[in-house]
Amino acid sequence: MVAAGLDQDTLDMVLESIGMFAEGRLPDSVLLELDHEDRFPEEIVRGMCGDELGVSLLFIPEEYGGMGGGSFDVYRVCEQMAAVDLGIATGVLATFLGSDPIVFGGTEEQQARWLGAIAEEGLLMAYGATEPEAGSDLASMKTIAERIEEDGAIVGYKISGNKQWISNGGYADLYTILALAPDGPSWFVVDRGTPGFDSGKPEDKHGIRASNTAALSLMDVEVTPDRLVGGAEGLGLQQAQAVFGYTRLMVAAFGLGAGWASLDRAIPYSAERIQGGSPLSEKQGFTHKLIVPHVCRLEAARAYIEETAERIDAGEEMLNTEGAIAKYMATEAGNAAADAAIQAHGGYGYTKEYMVEKYKRDVRITTIYEGTSEIMEMTISRDRWQHHLKTRGGYYQDLAGTLDELHVSHPDVGADVAALGARALAAVMETARTNRLTRNQHLLFRLGELIAYVECAGSLCRRASRAADGTLSPKADQRLDQKSLATASRVFARDAARRVAQEGTAHVLTAAEPGSVDAVALSAAVGLDRVLAAQTGAIADMDMLSQSVYENYATA
Ligand SMILES: Cc1cc2nc3c(=O)[nH]c(=O)nc-3n(C[C@H](O)[C@H](O)[C@H](O)COP(=O)(O)OP(=O)(O)OC[C@H]3O[C@@H](n4cnc5c(N)ncnc54)[C@H](O)[C@@H]3O)c2cc1C
Repeated sequence: MVAAGLDQDTLDMVLESIGMFAEGRLPDSVLLELDHEDRFPEEIVRGMCGDELGVSLLFIPEEYGGMGGGSFDVYRVCEQMAAVDLGIATGVLATFLGSDPIVFGGTEEQQARWLGAIAEEGLLMAYGATEPEAGSDLASMKTIAERIEEDGAIVGYKISGNKQWISNGGYADLYTILALAPDGPSWFVVDRGTPGFDSGKPEDKHGIRASNTAALSLMDVEVTPDRLVGGAEGLGLQQAQAVFGYTRLMVAAFGLGAGWASLDRAIPYSAERIQGGSPLSEKQGFTHKLIVPHVCRLEAARAYIEETAERIDAGEEMLNTEGAIAKYMATEAGNAAADAAIQAHGGYGYTKEYMVEKYKRDVRITTIYEGTSEIMEMTISRDRWQHHLKTRGGYYQDLAGTLDELHVSHPDVGADVAALGARALAAVMETARTNRLTRNQHLLFRLGELIAYVECAGSLCRRASRAADGTLSPKADQRLDQKSLATASRVFARDAARRVAQEGTAHVLTAAEPGSVDAVALSAAVGLDRVLAAQTGAIADMDMLSQSVYENYATA
């Protein structure tokens, strides 16, 4: 599994090196040019993965010449790369993803061979799962791997099929390809240049234009049996599933990085831009719509990412739902923040000269690849629904209980309001259960969203409390000080509770048979009055957060 990780100094050094590399080699003018020319900067991505920066070493275990970075390290690095350029970051991520089946499912011999080669030679990899007709539903894939047998022994495999939307598809040295072997889906390691293996022309994409995305075609591509990852057929989907917690966290960090990069442009711009006689940064109608809610949502996502990364690094496995919640919240928040950053720049934001226009197109991909937002909603909702049933409705009541306890020791982080949200969620889910409403996919998916809000609110309360106690990981991001984190947590908790109480009630009523659910009784069960009462003071908190965010920029 993932190693426990780097020490703080080493992580700081890696982050600093990426920052210096970006400053020297990837100024805005170069990034805008790459975007405009729709060009994959092969030499830069190879430099980042290989000799110059060695980012690939991060996820390779030390015994194979890597640095043995953990999930927390990978999140910090992914966030930083995404803040530079999401297209280039995707080129690097593709090597992370491409090697994952080997890191997590390969035999010792396979790991030594290929991970060693990535570490030594800085090989670029690609991850070939998606097919023209199998995206979200990978199980319907058609690429096949037929056994080549001699005297009853398997001497190789012949792979045939098509892969679609493969990052680094046109440039990778090594590919992991998911194919249907006789005993089930299996990963195979295929070299570029193997006869019968070809890549298509680069896709002309909406964003991340500095990344290469290409289709792959495989026609009777022969590989030896030692290229079957893990040495046994049929493990492919489990191997892919086993790392979802980890890989989705990387894309979550991409959403976070791109979202913050957008705000990092909008905030200083609005401090300078004078309209109506004063800077935009002094206008609530501007800040409380286009800046503050996005700061809170991104930081709630960060809290969830950090908690999940810590759990993965502590050895917990199969955190697929947590990975899904982190990815869902962070990428949706990143996307919304980037959209707000265009709005914050007015007409200038709508032109290609301004980086926010590119950020918005780039970050859009994060709600699509590595599982779409809708698939995340389904994953989250299905899993937590099971928890709700198994605990007879106690799952979110218990969360509310722990948040109430947290409120006693840390009364300023909004844990009491987050607890109201958790109780409202329990009531919404229970009403959906007793009225058999989750047969409506729409309701199930909307519950996925509300669950993500409640769980992230809890995370942000805990993170703000840990910041107050001085017990945050030393590797944790320090962007907001303890007081601002507590304020952001109060704002987000109110938002989460309000969404669950108001929207959750509306979703249940939307799905119910006429007359079967009493709206007044449901509003009482979710505690709508208390949730609305808890909104008092939100503007004062937003004023405070806005002020501290702008002060940070002024002093930076
Ligand atoms: C730039 C780019 C890079 C990529 N890189 C890689 C890569 O390196 N390797 C790789 O293997 N793949 C890669 N992908 C593929 C990516 O992971 C898929 O595009 C994604 O999983 C969605 O699959 P799809 O495009 O087939 O959409 P579909 O699965 O057809 O989905 C279309 C829409 O329907 C929704 N939907 C799907 N199923 C359901 C359902 N059951 N219920 C309700 N709604 C549903 C989706 O949320 C989406 O909104 C990349 C894609 C892009 C665009």
